[in-house]
Amino acid sequence: MIEEMARVPAVSLAAGFATQTDIVLPYLFDFATPEQCKRWLPKMTTGEYIGAIAMTESGTGSDLQGITTTATRDGDAWVLNGAKTFITNGINADLVVVVARTASGRETGSRAFSLFVVEDGTPGFTRGRNLDKLGMKAQDTAELFFDDARISGDLLLGEVGGGMSALMSHLPLERLSIAVTACAGARAALSWTLDYITERKAFGRPIAQFQNTQFAVAEMLTELKVTQTYVDEAVLKLNRNALDPVDAAKAKWWATENAQAHRRPLCPVLRRLRLHARIPHRPRVRRHPHYHRLRRHDGNHEGHHRALRAGRSVGTAGNRSRSRA
Ligand SMILES: Cc1cc2nc3c(=O)[nH]c(=O)nc-3n(C[C@H](O)[C@H](O)[C@H](O)COP(=O)(O)OP(=O)(O)OC[C@H]3O[C@@H](n4cnc5c(N)ncnc54)[C@H](O)[C@@H]3O)c2cc1C
Repeated sequence: MIEEMARVPAVSLAAGFATQTDIVLPYLFDFATPEQCKRWLPKMTTGEYIGAIAMTESGTGSDLQGITTTATRDGDAWVLNGAKTFITNGINADLVVVVARTASGRETGSRAFSLFVVEDGTPGFTRGRNLDKLGMKAQDTAELFFDDARISGDLLLGEVGGGMSALMSHLPLERLSIAVTACAGARAALSWTLDYITERKAFGRPIAQFQNTQFAVAEMLTELKVTQTYVDEAVLKLNRNALDPVDAAKAKWWATENAQAHRRPLCPVLRRLRLHARIPHRPRVRRHPHYHRLRRHDGNHEGHHRALRAGRSVGTAGNRSRSRA
């Protein structure tokens, strides 16, 4: 589904769908009680309910140990206070999985955080603006506010103090989802390029007939095949429950680097752009900044690099570089 959306191309829509299917639903599958499942899953699966996940705050991105949103127990209820930002599906969400600090004071560590489901209409839960971004303009990315937002005790997802380990356990799927989206985007960009070089003529013949164009296309096809093969292998590993967060970070890093246009002078998309000599006039080419934004989803690349060097998962020691995802 995500591959088809990238082909259209509707990358913003794909990010919203991936948040629902590859991030929010898996948390519900793994941690919701049977009663919670009955409450949310039917509407989530029909699309009647849209889900979001709220981790990031204005002062806290990669390092989730810095989360300041709190959930305080009050009798049978929980009271949430704080603000989240950059939340995909934030404006449209019917339910939001919120990461909040449940430990007292400034206590940190893996047991300091818990997950809650906050539903639309909860008193004290409000949404800010839909954030303006460089790319993925159609994507709903919002600020969320919790001002004494009171939720019933049965809206805790999983166990008290289990938030951080729940986030860690979902890293492989979240990262892989972004790698798949990036691969699909690169394949779409290549197909537009093939159309263009066949249509566009210079010196009396299609530019596809020039040898340097053919060399460039051969390299792009090879790089795409290598990337796709690597990502497919990761998908098979995930299906066997054998994909660890580090391997998922590798797939995400490699695929998004290949899909984004603005960084490496030799990256396939940039070469595709070069073949589109009239870049500013090609609406599809202008959409490439979407793929740049994918790199940022699920945490930053520097954090992933650090983890790859250390051969462990990013985030286990206070830096959970996540994605949508
Ligand atoms: C389009 C979009 C959608 C998003 N959707 C969601 C969502 O649905 N839910 C959600 O909770 N969040 C979401 N986010 C937020 C995203 O997860 C964060 O942007 C990401 O975790 C990085 O956090 P930050 O922006 O605060 O960057 P920071 O953590 O401030 O990092 C900024 C820079 O600091 C440097 N840096 C940071 N850590 C390290 C390190 N360990 N080693 C070396 N250098 C480092 C890097 O250069 C990095 O790029 C979204 C973001 C975007 C752009």
